[in-house]
Order: sequence, then C-alpha cells, then structure tokens
Amino acid sequence: MRGLMQEQPLLISQLIEFAARYHGDTEIVSRRVEGDIHRYGYADAARRSRQVARALDALAVPKHARVATLAWNGYRHFELYYGVSGSERIIHTINPRLHPEQMAWIVNHAEDDALCFDLTFTPLVKAIAPKCPTVRHWIALCDEAALPRDEGLPPLMSYEAWIGGQSDDYDWPEFDEHTAAGLCYTSGTTGNPKGVLYSHRSTLLHALASASPAVMGCTATDVVLPVVPMFHVNAWGLPYLCPMMGCKLVFPGAALDGKSIYELFESEGVTFSAGVPTVWQMLLAYLEQQGLKLSTMKRTVIGGSACPPAMLDAFRDKYGVTVNHAWGMTEMSPLGTYGTLKGKHLKLPPDAQRSILLKQGRAVFGVDMKIVDDAGEELPRDGKTFGNLMVRGPWIVREYFKGDGGRILDSEGYFHTGDVATLDPDGYMQITDRSKDVIKSGGEWISSIAIENIAMAHPAVAMAACIGLPHPKWDERPVLVVVRKPGVEVTKEALLAFYAGKIAKWQVPDDVLFVDTIPLGATGKMQKARLREQFADYRFV
Ligand code: AMP
Repeated sequence: MRGLMQEQPLLISQLIEFAARYHGDTEIVSRRVEGDIHRYGYADAARRSRQVARALDALAVPKHARVATLAWNGYRHFELYYGVSGSERIIHTINPRLHPEQMAWIVNHAEDDALCFDLTFTPLVKAIAPKCPTVRHWIALCDEAALPRDEGLPPLMSYEAWIGGQSDDYDWPEFDEHTAAGLCYTSGTTGNPKGVLYSHRSTLLHALASASPAVMGCTATDVVLPVVPMFHVNAWGLPYLCPMMGCKLVFPGAALDGKSIYELFESEGVTFSAGVPTVWQMLLAYLEQQGLKLSTMKRTVIGGSACPPAMLDAFRDKYGVTVNHAWGMTEMSPLGTYGTLKGKHLKLPPDAQRSILLKQGRAVFGVDMKIVDDAGEELPRDGKTFGNLMVRGPWIVREYFKGDGGRILDSEGYFHTGDVATLDPDGYMQITDRSKDVIKSGGEWISSIAIENIAMAHPAVAMAACIGLPHPKWDERPVLVVVRKPGVEVTKEALLAFYAGKIAKWQVPDDVLFVDTIPLGATGKMQKARLREQFADYRFV
C-alpha cells in the first residue's frame, strides 16, 4: 500500500521562492569585481532569477542545455544558479583557475550553449572562445556601459541588458526531481576531468541534510560568507542552504586576501564562514600582523584539505571561533562528514575533545561509509586500521557525465573516494591520505597529513608538504618540503628535532627541502604530484 501523502518534486526554484516570500528583505551583499559593494534582498534576487529564466527562453536555449559560468561569488552568479536550474537548464560552473586548454576541453565536453563570465575573466574568454564552437552566447556579467569591446572577443551581451528587458513574471516549470540541475567537473589531477551531474533532488536533499543543527546548523540569525567559491562544488551547497534557512549572505567576489575578508567579516557582521585551509592561512596571517580581533564570527567550517591542528587552535584560542572540520568531494555534492562532539565527549578534557574535532567528522545522515582493503574486503571500524574509503548515498555520484570512467560503484553501490581513512567505533572518520599521496615505507604506510600537521605547528613554517620519494631500501621515504614564514630562519635539524616524541621514529621525514612556494591546484590544494616531479632526481644519502 502506498502512503497517502502529497507528491511534490523537490526543485531548486522552490528555494528562491521560499526565501523571497519569507525572507524577502534579508540581505545578499556582494563585493563586485567593479570594486563597490552591492546589496539587495532575496525578493530582488528571486525577481532577477525569473528574468534570467525568461532571458534564456528569449535566446531559445533548450531544456537541459548547459549554461556555463566563469564567475566569482556574487549576486549575479547566485541569480544564474536559480534562473538556469529553475528553468530546467543545467548550470555548469567552471573553475577559472584551470589552464585555458583544460577549460576549453571542459566547455566542449559539456557542450555548453552559453557562457556567462565576470569581467576579470575577459582575457580567458578571448583565449578559449575560438576553441569553443558549441557556445552560441557569450554574456558578460556587467551592465551595458562596462561591456568589454576589445578586439578578438566573440560577440558579447551584457547581463544587465540581457535580463533587463525581461518581465519578472514567470511561473517556474514543474518537472521530475531527478532532472539534472548542475554540472561540475572534478579537478582531474590525473587524466581528463570528469563531470558530476547533480539533480534537483540530490541538491535539495544535500541542502536539507547540511542545514541540520547536527551539521552546519545555520539559522535566520546567521550571516554567512562562503569563501569557498561557487565554482568549487557549488560553494559546498551554501547558495542553496542559505535561502532555505533565511541566512543573510555575503559574497566576497574576487578579493580573497586576508584584509578584504576581514573587512567584510566586520562590516557585515559575519557569523559563519566556510573555506579551505589555504584561505584561512591568509586571514590568520593578516589578523596576526595587524593585531586584529574578530568581533562577530562564531563558527567556520574547514574542509577541502585537512585542517592543520595549529589552525583550529589559532581560531579557537586567539579569536574565539569554533572550527568544524568537514570532508567531502565534488562527487558528493560535496558533504560527507562533519566534525562535532557527542554528549559523552563534553566531560572530556579539552585536549581529548580537540583530538576528536581534528578528525574529519561523522557521516551526515544519508551517507554510508566503509573502509576496505585492496581486494574490496571490509576492514574493522577500530580507529586504527586504515583502508580505502567508500561511500554511498542520495547525493553521491552514480556515474560520471557521458559515462566517462565506466562503472564506478562496487557491488554494494559504494563509490571509491580515492581517500585512505580510519573509522572509529563512534563513527568518526579520519583521512590519513589521498591514496596516491600515502607514503609506503618498507611495507608500512605513513600518513603524509600527519607529518604535515606537525610541521605546521612549528612557528617558522608557513606551509609544509610531505611527499614520498623513491628509496633504494625502503621503497619510499618521507621528505618534508617547507616554505618558511617571511624573515624567519629555521634549519633542517631543528625541524626534524621538532618531531621527537610526536610520532614513531621511523615515520620522521628523512630530509627537509626548503622552497619558495608549493604549487597549489585550482581549488587551493597542494599539488604533491607536481612536487614529486620537481624532486624526481632527489637521491637519499
Ligand atoms: P574536491 O573534489 O576537489 O573537493 O576534492 C575532494 C578531495 O579533497 C577528497 O577526496 C579529499 O582527498 C580531500 N579533502 C576534502 N576535505 C578534506 C578534509 N577535511 N581533510 C582531508 N582531505 C580532504
């Protein structure tokens, strides 16, 4: 017997209309690439999203066509999220930090019909346009007066003129909730990037799950600033979660340096933020140099790479900000785990609580996790054994766009994350490595993240990466690559001595290499594969 409840498909357009009705005057504040601050409310955003839908109709952009964006976090990008998906087209967010060749490859693979870009990316558009024959419409996110008129650009429309002529009276279509809503390509560190095609249903379920008080727990009193870009897994879902919860939204645009983020935090009264460790590093350095405090910030979620313990301590002890560690990936919309304590942990001493919070967290309801060995056999959840982390759930990829990569699930429907992790009896997961970064020394595995975390706690270290390099006797041995803080001296011996008593002796790196910079990928993660290439000729003595 079927239940007798109403069947309403879960659609993205419902989020913006909900926010317009119940939080119409709640602000969305954006630092524009033009340099000024723009502010309006959810009701205005909904009106303009409907204009986007009509403007797409006017261009005869078909259903399910991909509309690409090359854009920072801002109100126009937000309107596209709703106008494009809500009208049954697919928003394809492109990471502008990719190489233009790779970007053109992605546009062609996605067969994008239109591409909307912030003015910052005009040179990129010039470079890729001749290689992107499927793109019929190039739309600059600006008003008519600011439209670039350089030689060599494809014919452009300004966003404001494009939507400005349209009525904001539009009935969002109703359709199957499994319909595709968004497309985001994986960072593709090996081989070509692969497309992850989110549905309306997966996006709404992800937003509902991440909004719960057990997870991000944002409410209508929160002011949320997503530092994580809208081109990196939909800014971890915040552009969907915030209208659902009625949070004030603050978009930082292109200015992600410590000073600009600090200024927005203070001027807009930001209470909650989200980003990868590298951006927090810049903010913390700025606060320290200038001797500043954060007066309204309460919580931040850190993910994308492991949160170094020193970062959690600095936020908590110097600035009174709670850090929650989260883990996920493009293939997971992205949220998989979130790090908070359980009731029984509240009695524990602060140090014991800290060790729990430094793990990547517990599975969010909806996500199943297991760890397996290389033969696919499940391993114990004892907090010690580490294995390949596998996940399944309604907002996790089933298949890549166009079937790339073939069958990607195991016989029980789990997706192979490529991460190596432990699971403890309380359900906390700890990533020890990306499977390709784990260091295999004499048959034992060493976690590069554990080694980096210790280095990051040294006062002279600005950034540290630990890589395994080929060793004649042990297969691989760990080597620490370090960027020193400006004007601070430290020797190899002092850094190696810093490991004493913190990890087993055989896990201590064999050498320290000082460099000026560590290469970062398009999503701000250290590119250890490039470091391994850079030091391919290294010889252990
Ligand atoms: P992406 O798809 O670009 O978001 O990358 C996903 C990958 O980032 C994961 O598979 C992990 O290797 C890594 N990652 C994400 N969050 C964390 C975290 N909190 N700690 C360690 N690694 C993480």
